[in-house]
Amino acid sequence: MSQAVYLDYAATTPVDPRVVKAMTACLGPDDNFGNPASRSHLYGWLAEEAVENARRQVADALNADPREIVWTSGATEADNLAIKGVLEQRGGGHVITATSEHKAVVDPCAWLERQGHEVTWIAPEADGRVDPAKVKAALREDTVLVSIMHANNETGVINDIAAIGALCREHGALFHTDAAQSAGKLPLDVRELPVDLVSLCAHKIYGPKGVGALYVRRHPDVRVAAQIHGGGHERNMRSGTLPTHQIVGMGEALALAMAEREEEQARVAALRDRLWERAATLPGVHLNGRDAPRLPGHLNLAFEGIDGEMLLTALTEAAVSTGSACTSATLEPSYVLKAMGLADDLARSALRFSVGRFTTEADIDRVGQNLTEVVTRLREATRQHA
Ligand SMILES: *Cc1c(COP(=O)(O)O)cnc(C)c1O
Repeated sequence: MSQAVYLDYAATTPVDPRVVKAMTACLGPDDNFGNPASRSHLYGWLAEEAVENARRQVADALNADPREIVWTSGATEADNLAIKGVLEQRGGGHVITATSEHKAVVDPCAWLERQGHEVTWIAPEADGRVDPAKVKAALREDTVLVSIMHANNETGVINDIAAIGALCREHGALFHTDAAQSAGKLPLDVRELPVDLVSLCAHKIYGPKGVGALYVRRHPDVRVAAQIHGGGHERNMRSGTLPTHQIVGMGEALALAMAEREEEQARVAALRDRLWERAATLPGVHLNGRDAPRLPGHLNLAFEGIDGEMLLTALTEAAVSTGSACTSATLEPSYVLKAMGLADDLARSALRFSVGRFTTEADIDRVGQNLTEVVTRLREATRQHA
């Protein structure tokens, strides 16, 4: 494609051709198309086998037991199941989360508030991280759940989930983390990490859209009340016929990401740094989250005196986004950057570049040049009007 360079891997990724192949083998009349819940014939047994193989692949990526994996339609549903499911199971209680969370956590928590539950909202530090000391201060005797994401979708900033989880353990609160951005990229070992619930999705790691999973710890036994009823699939936690092709795609995508993780993440980080080196030669460019550990592919930049939407339009060589795809329909500045203390103007000037598996050095150089030209031109235009 001679289109703009795709640098929006944090919004979604293409499906890896190897994953496409595995998925296609679960669709047609000569393929493994059966209903995994059909117990009376080979079609069903083979589909079930494929689903269970994928469950093991996802569990392996987390060093979990396959029985701890619940299939969902994506990370949004996994977040909803974790948050609403725990509150319903526990019959209510106090919840702690952060203002920099993805909408898939923010909105269920806001919904809980409307149902009469108490939620404490922690603001991130200027570097984007949630300070474990603030979680500690917010924990109460009646706190049932803490939900803090592993890595932020807009900035790529990585939270210290080991420290936060340890505090939750001490206080007897369950700890949920949204790992949609980090799974397959960062080490995530549930035998070492004190996490009880982990949300995953396939389409940020070269799997298909519309499938995800929730890790639910078995020891100690964590329970979530089902939010979708009908048929009692997934050990009564999530009903609905399992989409074999989607699930096989997620398993394959995660297995590939894990097998190639270190090599791929080093390559992606080098490309991302190459773009930053180009951008950093321009005056008035801020790297959001620069003082915190970040995911290898993310580069969230603010451009002093420039409107992000204008920059997005002028930047014809790159497909990027202002903040997250889920909120880009609105012209509001990013709530994540605002929570980090950025002034409205600077937050409104920000663009998120995200590099991934199919990005090349030539892509980066093309975008780097385009960015330099466009920023210089827009700055000159503003100066002439001033
Ligand atoms: C993409 C994303 C989601 C939503 O995942 P879906 O599978 O699209 O529902 C949730 N949380 C984070 C951090 C994300 O990046």
